[in-house]
Amino acid sequence: MSAREKSLEERFHTFLDILSRKLKDTPAVERISREDREVEERAFKVLLSTILSARTKDEITLEISKRLFKRIKTPQDLVDIDEKELERLIYPVGFYRTKARYLKKLGEMLIEEFQGKVPRRLEDLIRLPGVGRKTGNLVITLAYDDYGICVDTHVHRICNRWEYIDTETPEESEMELRKKLPKRYWKIINTLLVDYGKRVCSPVPRCHLCPEEIREICPYYHKLQGIEKVLEKYNFKKVSKNNIPEEKGTYILKIKLKEPRIITYGKNRKRFKRGYYFYVGSAMGKSNNLRRRIERHLREDKKLHWHIDYLLQYGTVKEVYVSREAVECEVARDLSFLKSIEGFGSSDCSCKSHLFFMKS
Ligand code: SF4
Repeated sequence: MSAREKSLEERFHTFLDILSRKLKDTPAVERISREDREVEERAFKVLLSTILSARTKDEITLEISKRLFKRIKTPQDLVDIDEKELERLIYPVGFYRTKARYLKKLGEMLIEEFQGKVPRRLEDLIRLPGVGRKTGNLVITLAYDDYGICVDTHVHRICNRWEYIDTETPEESEMELRKKLPKRYWKIINTLLVDYGKRVCSPVPRCHLCPEEIREICPYYHKLQGIEKVLEKYNFKKVSKNNIPEEKGTYILKIKLKEPRIITYGKNRKRFKRGYYFYVGSAMGKSNNLRRRIERHLREDKKLHWHIDYLLQYGTVKEVYVSREAVECEVARDLSFLKSIEGFGSSDCSCKSHLFFMKS
């Protein structure tokens, strides 16, 4: 069986196996977790360094955590330290003022409610100030060596790109992963995907940095390649929104919807997921040209006319492609390997749709 004939699940597991093989750098919090054998001390340090690590570069997290642990060894130390001094100690981690405030409250709560110890249960951990499910799961896995799945924005995005799950939020992703991810990956998935999500499979993926053995089995990569092929086949050119040619032809709008939305268009009411939408239209009529048609779509104060205009109320046009060829329906047919959204066909064609969805 070739790599691409494997099921989506098998491919994703293979991807994780490849990343495990290649992993070189251990993230800061994991390195900290390996330094203490004594479980209570380890849990306290992991908790603090995980809070520091949010929106902070790994090398800063490591350096500042070490500085902090020289001065703060117990929850009582957090209670005793002056907040301004704590701010100075943890500067320049991201949101250091807010984090100093959380850490002060954290110290109080650990003493008052948990006998000065870091709780082991996720339900208790997420009650602590500055601790969400992501931090809580990291403490469970790294400090207590229990099973947890730490899902942040990178894990959420990459698992969805690989179509391993179909979810809208990191919380939903955690629940889905708990149902289907084999336990051997629970503790390492965060380490593997956070690093990869920052360097390579970032919000705008840098697929050229991905090894061939990963690209070969990545469903997202094949979709991106499929789109490129269609653009090439019909001689599409990317144009600036301010420089659309006054010619007849076919156009594609790449629209980004940042948040899911329920949108009413015509007689339809539908929930649109966050992600990218590709709309194929044409400007071939006598009194029409690409500039007139596309600028009309782009105007903020437009009268809602075509169904796509209802989506454009909430989405942002990120890219515009134009071709001089009259190929609207051919392009729509060739893009149908993406998910088509019904109700967006042209009035004079029998296509199922001219609007296609792809996750971001
Ligand atoms: S090929 Fe592209 S989309 Fe796939 S994992 Fe690599 S960077 Fe991400």
